[in-house]
Amino acid sequence: MSAQEPRTVTVTGAGGQIGYALLFRIASGAVFGPGTPVRLRLLEIPAGLKAAEGTALELQDCAFAALDSVEVTENAARAFDGTNVALLVGARPRGPGMERGDLLSANGAIFGPQGAAINAGAADDVRVLVVGNPANTNALIAAAHAPDVPAERFTAMTRLDHNRALAQLAGTLDVPVASIGNIIIWGNHSATQVPDISHGVLTGADGAQRPLPDALAEALGGAGKVATWLDETFIPRVAKRGAEIIEVRGSSSAASAAAAAIDHVRDWVRGTTGSWTSAAVLSDGSYGVPRGLVSSFPVNSRDGAWEIQQGLSVAADVRARIEGSVRELEEERDMVKSLGLV
Ligand code: NDP
Repeated sequence: MSAQEPRTVTVTGAGGQIGYALLFRIASGAVFGPGTPVRLRLLEIPAGLKAAEGTALELQDCAFAALDSVEVTENAARAFDGTNVALLVGARPRGPGMERGDLLSANGAIFGPQGAAINAGAADDVRVLVVGNPANTNALIAAAHAPDVPAERFTAMTRLDHNRALAQLAGTLDVPVASIGNIIIWGNHSATQVPDISHGVLTGADGAQRPLPDALAEALGGAGKVATWLDETFIPRVAKRGAEIIEVRGSSSAASAAAAAIDHVRDWVRGTTGSWTSAAVLSDGSYGVPRGLVSSFPVNSRDGAWEIQQGLSVAADVRARIEGSVRELEEERDMVKSLGLV
């Protein structure tokens, strides 16, 4: 691909809050770089079409040099035709009294046909990021309907959880976010997710590196305090940050979710250097996560593909948490299987 070849990006739920925060950044070149023209396809359901059309007008008014075109449609076949990157944001929110099975079934009706449309018409190099919840299992459903697309091209977003963890650590240690590397989010993008700092690295202003647990022990007043801080403060804060945002802001996180989606796709397309990051990808059985689940791992991106970082030791308490999160993913998978969605 030459730097100037246009790339087609499809965003579903484009009229929603995350879509509004996401599209302007893609159009400004944040994913492929400012020299690569972008063709945007905005997919919405009828109720969201007007909002998406309004967003399209504003995108034009930004006169972004990298924005080649914007098209709004309610037709999935059109939206995914020739697409290089599909950001599946629109999902059915959990309504009052809705059981998990109802939610999975409603989302199956969205992500199944979208997977089929991607299978039928997307570009050969298509990469899919699912943001709409339950993201991991929605990715599984979409992949199951796209037999001709390599299943590893379907991913789900845990980058926001990763970024939230980075920000909490940087604040606690009073260091720049960029000085922290090699933290991990394992498992499901849900309250069972497992933020893990045990392999974290802190790089000082002089370039010297030290283990993050040591830096935390120093900041918190001893190694014994770190375990308590992780259990009682850090992990719940990261896992429940979405609820905290809703409480303070009055509506759910949108710009930070969009920023994380950009980070995920940019790194996937352009590669990671230095630190690994976190993404929910198809398990190949690494770290005991059953093959075929879409679960979050430490990942590096090389030559346009995610690779799970291998060979890390996993402490017993972290492993127990991962097993809990993976159990939840298995339950979701079994439920969508029993509903005939995969
Ligand atoms: P948002 O844009 O705020 O959220 C969209 C999805 O992202 C939700 O499933 C939400 O999950 C999920 N999400 C994942 N991570 C986060 C996070 N960290 N913070 C917040 N949300 C997160 O929703 P809106 O209601 O504003 O917009 C959704 C749009 O999708 C609507 O315009 C609707 O019409 C459209 N839609 C389009 C479809 C399609 O294109 N076929 C299908 C269904 C809906 P959660 O609910 O758990 O917060």
